[in-house]
Amino acid sequence: MWCAIMLQPLFIELTPQAFQARLLDWFDRHGRTSLPWQQDKTPYRVWVSEIMLQQTQVATVIPYYQRFMARFPRVEDLAQAAPDEVLHLWTGLGYYARARNLHRAAQIVVEVHGGEFPVHSVDAMAGLPGIGRSTAGAIIAITSGRRAVILDGNVKRVLARLRAVEGWPGRTAVARELWRLAEHYTPDERLADYTQAMMDLGATLCTRGKPSCLLCPFNDACQAHARGEQSRFPESKPRKTLPERHARMLLLCDREGRVMLEQRPASGLWGGLWSFPQFDDDAALDDWLAIHAPDAQREPAWPTLSHTFSHFRLHIVPQLVRLARDSAAVTEPGRLWYNPREPASIGLAAPVKTLLETLAHSTTQAEERSR
Ligand code: SF4
Repeated sequence: MWCAIMLQPLFIELTPQAFQARLLDWFDRHGRTSLPWQQDKTPYRVWVSEIMLQQTQVATVIPYYQRFMARFPRVEDLAQAAPDEVLHLWTGLGYYARARNLHRAAQIVVEVHGGEFPVHSVDAMAGLPGIGRSTAGAIIAITSGRRAVILDGNVKRVLARLRAVEGWPGRTAVARELWRLAEHYTPDERLADYTQAMMDLGATLCTRGKPSCLLCPFNDACQAHARGEQSRFPESKPRKTLPERHARMLLLCDREGRVMLEQRPASGLWGGLWSFPQFDDDAALDDWLAIHAPDAQREPAWPTLSHTFSHFRLHIVPQLVRLARDSAAVTEPGRLWYNPREPASIGLAAPVKTLLETLAHSTTQAEERSR
C-alpha cells in the first residue's frame, strides 16, 4: 500500500492586506523617523534626498544633504545657482550626472511648473531629468499620500527574497515581475508610511550582506529565508571584467604654489567638474609642456592612483611639474589657478580632490622642513 507524504511549504502565503498590516506594525515600532529629510516633508526636500540616496548610504548622504539644504533651502535657490556651486556641494558623492540633472530639473520646476512639483502625476514627475518611475512614486507617496508604487534597490531586494524571484532585476522580465509584486502589495492607505517602511525594511533588516531574518516581520513568509538562500536573491548583474585605462594627470604648479585646473566639458565623464589636464601617455604630456611650459621642472611621478567607474577602471599617474615663469602664460578660458590650501567653491572629481589634498599636505611639510 502506498503511503503518501505531503510536504508542507516552509513559508506561508500572505495576502496583500496581511503583508501591509505586518509591515506597518513593524514600521510603527521600528521605522526611522528622525532622518533630516523626514522632517518638513516637502516634495523638494524629499526629491533631493531620494536623488542623493541613489547608490549611496544614508550615513554618507546626511552631511551632504544638510549642507545642500542650508545653501539651497528652496527649489528656486537651486534653480538660480551657478552649476559650479551645485557640483561643489556634490563633490565626493560621485555619479555627478545626478547633480547636473538635479539642477536642470529645479530650473524646469520653476520655469514650467511655477515652482511646484507635479505630484499629481507619476508621468509628469518622471518627465523631470533624473527622476525615474520609482523615485517619482516615492516623492508622490511620501509627500502627498497618493497611491504610487516604488521599486528602489531596497524594495527589489525585499520582494525578490520574499517571493524568490529568480534572475537579475536589470533584465526586463525580472523587473516586470518585481513591479507586478510591488503593485500587488501597495495599499490604498497610509502610503507615506508604507513607502518609508519598505525602504526602511530593506535598509535596516533585509540588508544585502547579512539580513536580520530573526527580527523580520516576514520570516515565516519569506521563500528565500525558508530555503536558506537569502544571498542568492536578487541575483547580481552578470559580471564582466572592467576594461583598464591609463592616464597621466598634470599637476602644474606656479611659483605661488597654485595648481592649474581645467573645466571638463559639460557632458561626459566628470562633466562640468574641474580636473587636471589629462593625457593618454607621457609623450602627449611632454608635447603639451614643450608648447605651454618649456622651461618647467618635472618632479618624479607620484604613485599611481586608481579610480573605478561603472564601466571601466582608470589608473592615473600624477605628474608634478613646477613652472619657472609667470602662470599667466598658460592661462586660457576654462582654466584656473587653484590654491590647494585655500580651496574655492568648485566641483572636483574625487581623485582630483585627493591629489589636491596630497599636494597641500606635501607643500606644508616642505615648508616645515625648510624652517
Ligand atoms: S526574512 Fe530575511 S530575507 Fe526574508 S525579507 Fe525578511 S530579512 Fe529579508
